[in-house]
Amino acid sequence: MYKVKAYSAASSTSPMASTTIPRRDPTENDVQIEILFCGICHSDLHQVRNEWSGFMPTVYPCVPGHEIVGRVKKVGSAVKKFKAGDLAAVGCMVDSDGTCPECKAGLEMFCPNVTFTYNLPDKHQGGVTFGGYSESIVVDQRFVLRVPTNLNLAAAAPLLCAGITTYSPMRHWGVTKGKKVGVVGLGGLGHMGVKFADKLGAHVVVFTTSPGKKEDALRLGADEVVISKNASEMQKHAGSFDFILDAVSADHDIMTYMNLLRRDGSLVLVGAPEKPLPVSAFGLIMGRHSLSGSAIGGIPETQEMLDFCGQHNITCDVEVIPIQKVNEAYERLLKSDVKYRFSIDMASLGTE
Ligand code: NAP
Ligand code: ZN
Repeated sequence: MYKVKAYSAASSTSPMASTTIPRRDPTENDVQIEILFCGICHSDLHQVRNEWSGFMPTVYPCVPGHEIVGRVKKVGSAVKKFKAGDLAAVGCMVDSDGTCPECKAGLEMFCPNVTFTYNLPDKHQGGVTFGGYSESIVVDQRFVLRVPTNLNLAAAAPLLCAGITTYSPMRHWGVTKGKKVGVVGLGGLGHMGVKFADKLGAHVVVFTTSPGKKEDALRLGADEVVISKNASEMQKHAGSFDFILDAVSADHDIMTYMNLLRRDGSLVLVGAPEKPLPVSAFGLIMGRHSLSGSAIGGIPETQEMLDFCGQHNITCDVEVIPIQKVNEAYERLLKSDVKYRFSIDMASLGTE
């Protein structure tokens, strides 16, 4: 066991603050990674403030962070895929049973015994897992991803959650050329949804509550931008979408978007607001519409997404911050004031 510097929250109302946490010495299947950058996902904020208490209550102290990019420091004797000095990445999961149908299908996030990167029981050390707002992490090689060397590392880190969470449903629901795709909420996830849908050849429409993001949405790859508060602009798109990805972090009316689907269209939620969202039966019945959800993506697909990003030079638009600004960054997330992901430069922990 060794100690590393980290940032943690002591309770749902405490600010994040400097601390030290234990990490295990790498076992034969482990990869020890020095963390260089970690993205800030809105899920970190939901979890730190215990907003998902019904689904996954937060255990304190909580060290969030699941968009991790770093350099391999040491590997266990059975690790063949990585060696010291390699770039490596870790997303939302660090373990699963490896034997259930979900694991066999490469969909480890649905394994009944999945261990998320933070806030789930740590079978090696006891207590719960601690995430990437820290100097280093030790992870089973099955959950360590390869980072294409051409990508900027600060901008690649958020691919590990914002990237895969938007890439996976687009592939699953068959977003291709000729499809009309909506992306609701231009935040960390939404802006990656726009980039992927555009790269996959779809006609992309962004729905935003922030008029100031219009130019950016077009630059990121949107063909059209709709200010969602404007009912007549919304009405122009009624009954026309094949697929809408909803990446909103807060309470909002999803039925407005259901009405924009064409026959057999799908509205897919990736956003995970604290409160339940009301659904009207008629919005589903009429037009044979589907309402679905999607959670991150499995390990094989995460590697596929990273390779796709390497091939097409796709990264996230990031604002790099020192860890000392994490509390300010959370407040800005709540105001939808992020362009379009905060990425923490973990070297800043060295000054603590
Ligand atoms: P984010 O960067 O904060 O973006 C959320 C965006 O939602 C905002 O930028 C804003 O976009 C829009 N929004 C915020 N409040 C709103 C409101 N009251 N009404 C309408 N729109 C609003 O968050 P994120 O990191 O992208 O995460 C988005 C959600 O996905 C979070 O709930 C997060 O927990 C969840 N998530 C789910 C998964 C999964 O596996 N399913 C993975 C990661 C994250 P505009 O300014 O354009 O309106
Ligand atoms: Zn996330």
